[in-house]
Amino acid sequence: MTNKEELLLMKREQGYDSVTQSQKKKIFDFSEGYKEFIGRAKTERVFVKDTIELLKKEGFKKFSPDMKLKQGDKVYFENRKRALIAVKMGKKSLSEGVSMIGAHIDSPRLDLKPIPLYEAENTLYIKTHYYGGIKKYQWPVIPLSMFGTVALKNGKTVDIVIGEDEKDPIFVITDILPHLGNTQYKKTPAEIIHPEQLNAIGATIPYEDKEASGRVKLNFLNIINKKYNITEEDFISAEITLVPALKPRDAAIDSSLVAAYGQDDRVCAYTGLMALLDSKEEAKTQLLLLSDKEEVGSMGNTGMQSKFFEFTLEALCENQGVKLREALWNTECLSADVCAAYDPNFPEVYEKNNSVFLNGGVSLMKYSGARGKSGTSDASAELLGKIRGLFDKASVKWQIGELGKTDEGGGGTIAQFVANLGCEVIDCGVALLSMHSPYEVASKYDIYMTYKAYKTFFEKA
Ligand code: MN
Ligand code: MN
Repeated sequence: MTNKEELLLMKREQGYDSVTQSQKKKIFDFSEGYKEFIGRAKTERVFVKDTIELLKKEGFKKFSPDMKLKQGDKVYFENRKRALIAVKMGKKSLSEGVSMIGAHIDSPRLDLKPIPLYEAENTLYIKTHYYGGIKKYQWPVIPLSMFGTVALKNGKTVDIVIGEDEKDPIFVITDILPHLGNTQYKKTPAEIIHPEQLNAIGATIPYEDKEASGRVKLNFLNIINKKYNITEEDFISAEITLVPALKPRDAAIDSSLVAAYGQDDRVCAYTGLMALLDSKEEAKTQLLLLSDKEEVGSMGNTGMQSKFFEFTLEALCENQGVKLREALWNTECLSADVCAAYDPNFPEVYEKNNSVFLNGGVSLMKYSGARGKSGTSDASAELLGKIRGLFDKASVKWQIGELGKTDEGGGGTIAQFVANLGCEVIDCGVALLSMHSPYEVASKYDIYMTYKAYKTFFEKA
């Protein structure tokens, strides 16, 4: 490189070119904890439960208004078992805003319908209604496990997990054999599997009483009843879902990648959580938000469009005698969400110059959206300037890109809803391959750099 090139050109080298053996070990070790955590926490409810357990171990306490919070105090706020805010009080006043990292912990999946069970030709089927943006054809012929919570009429709840233990049976949705696929092949990919065909096999053995009708369904209910003491009607007041029964695994011969279900966006939730636990609280107050319902537009009282974040910040402001609007206005947020890594298998949907790559470090996105930046928050030049300054100073490897070619499609994150409150916000997270599929792929290097980016932001922003 000539001096002039060194001075003027942007550097975009691959991350491993400047990684030592001991750094590589750190990078790989970090993903071990990650795989273990997301291998267990496959729904937002489990993620919240496991996170609270961890927070308590690390000295976080459930917030109550009579606490008098001071620098270094650690509190959390739970929202209906599906969303969570964890806070470390900083040195600076809340009137200077908080340093916020906002991720989401819901992922695309197959939810059970309220009346899910039906019997056809001596087989019991479980009907589902897909949640989030999935390619329907990706969900048959993979092992599925059942996660859920059933609320009984007496106010008690029952948690269900079937398919995660090696000894458990799993569930599966069938597809047409290729020998008989001529008509199916003529359909468009969106039509290959109709959502009403996303029915998993639940049972095939009839209940022993030959007098009974719907005997396979009865058998299914009898087994479920023995295990969980619930009836068919109890499925109505339940949140039960089918998710891939796949364990996170290393991928590629050099084990450089993690293949796992639900990395959108639990990879950012986990790295954000680790950053919060490991960071020193010497600047602004640090706030980690784990949001629900992002995959369906952040609607509902556990989604980012709800008042959860504002009410939480208000409670903290009241505790500190600070005005909420000042805290909101001065808050800076990393909208911690995944973006699409450039995939050389499908170059036609990317604009290479403005793409992010595996092993390129943490990914920034100035905006997402679709059709001319609609439905997005376009981060300010000033915030981007500050963030790349922060990251460079802390040797955080970063890259920036867009979500594919202009007008090829598009997407959104929680960034716009945070920005609408007056905060400064930019998307910042891990680049994925096969996003929203049952088995998404991320780079261990990028996962570690994202953790480092979030920790730097918490400590220095
Ligand atoms: Mn996401
Ligand atoms: Mn998503």
